[in-house]
Amino acid sequence: MRIDLHTHSTVSDGTTSPAQVVAQAAAEGLDVIALTDHDSTLGWEEATSEARAQDIILVPGAEISARCGGISVHVLSYLHDPDNPAMREHERRVQEARRDRARIMVDRLAQDHPITWDDVIEQTKPGTTIGRPHLADALVRAGIVTDRSEAFDTLLWTGSPYYVHHYAPEAVTAVEMICAAGGVAVFAHPGASARGAVVADTVIEDMISAGLHGLEIHHRDNPPHERTRLTGIAQRHGVLVTGSSDFHGDGKPNRLGENTTTLEVFQSIEELGVTPVVRP
Ligand code: AMP
Ligand code: ZN
Ligand code: FE
Ligand code: FE
Repeated sequence: MRIDLHTHSTVSDGTTSPAQVVAQAAAEGLDVIALTDHDSTLGWEEATSEARAQDIILVPGAEISARCGGISVHVLSYLHDPDNPAMREHERRVQEARRDRARIMVDRLAQDHPITWDDVIEQTKPGTTIGRPHLADALVRAGIVTDRSEAFDTLLWTGSPYYVHHYAPEAVTAVEMICAAGGVAVFAHPGASARGAVVADTVIEDMISAGLHGLEIHHRDNPPHERTRLTGIAQRHGVLVTGSSDFHGDGKPNRLGENTTTLEVFQSIEELGVTPVVRP
């Protein structure tokens, strides 16, 4: 079984539609795929229809933006109730905050580079969760950088003068919210040190106390020493360990199925979640 539990579509900052993500995963021989757009479940319906037409199992999910003090963290939520009022309110508030923050970043960038808010909006559909990758796309279109990676390396990284934070709940609060909505909470790429500071063991332990079910250890952004640290935490606390691609279409080099999750862990997630997985 090849199981990939972390992908993005055009509902957030991937470059392929929810149906295309599912169809591509099926075509490449994956058995289980999760759709986990940033702070949105807008792609669930389309992905569900496509999964029923393909020979693949779909795990509907989302990647919830959170923070630990000044550190931005992501918590994957699988199989929660998409109509849960607190989750809905989170999505509304974070999408608004992301949009406001992107506008401020464009204002800052526009002082030195020829890009406008319209250039960014052109890259998105109504309802898209806006992120720095959309600013990157506008910078590529304007000929300022060649691809998203170069945009992140030069103008959009967290230490850049153009970088602006956006509102997000504390990580422990996000975990509590996911669990209260019947979801399975997995800390996404917890050791992604190249993106900025990573959180301490004590923070992860606080998240586990709040109900965190697992750690996404097998992810290209977790370097070897971080995987060792995280594996120790997972073993000490008996939480699930997942592996995933974090596929963003052409927006990132990450390929579908480049990291995978075991059947046993997938079965645990299926049992824990309140929304059923979609079977063909
Ligand atoms: P934001 O949530 O707006 O702060 O932007 C973070 C998003 O940018 C995450 O979804 C990352 O997957 C994506 N990202 C981070 N670094 C890169 C990179 N070098 N190339 C493309 N996308 C990236
Ligand atoms: Zn993303
Ligand atoms: Fe992430
Ligand atoms: Fe992601």
